[in-house]
Amino acid sequence: MVRYIDTVELSRSATAGVVAAGSAPLRAFRRLCEGLPEQGDHPVDWSVGIGRGAAGELLMTVTVATIVTLVCQRCLDPFPVAIDFTTRLRVVAAADFNDASRDHEEDWTAIECIAASRRLDVLELVEDEIILSLPVAPRHDVCPARPADAALREHGPSAFAVLSRLKH
Ligand SMILES: [Zn+2]
Repeated sequence: MVRYIDTVELSRSATAGVVAAGSAPLRAFRRLCEGLPEQGDHPVDWSVGIGRGAAGELLMTVTVATIVTLVCQRCLDPFPVAIDFTTRLRVVAAADFNDASRDHEEDWTAIECIAASRRLDVLELVEDEIILSLPVAPRHDVCPARPADAALREHGPSAFAVLSRLKH
């Protein structure tokens, strides 16, 4: 599996297509798993491809499919969330990166930029993109019914129940 790619060289070459792809256990992505509940044995299937934009610029495509366990913000139970996305990034020369990212901030519809690098760690990139893709407030479509919820509806929350929920 290719772990590092040279985007400086790729910017100059005529190569197009998938340049790196693989499958890695979700738990291997330490930064991603920080602050998340216990994860299952789901693999992260990913690929990084390259192509050209209208002006000949190098465009990178990051595709990811996995299942991340997140905590439902309504009932606080962990539940699996399918993550499946393709992100496009424009590779710009390191010297142009600050200008390019300022332009991107002013025009949020513009493609996000990444500085060309001799040794781009594709797993780090994949991890960054997964972190960015996670929902801010994940929720079940319909939370599973629990006996405690029925009691809560009938009698209202006791201070103790609220406290034990916060600790959970
Ligand atoms: Zn829920």
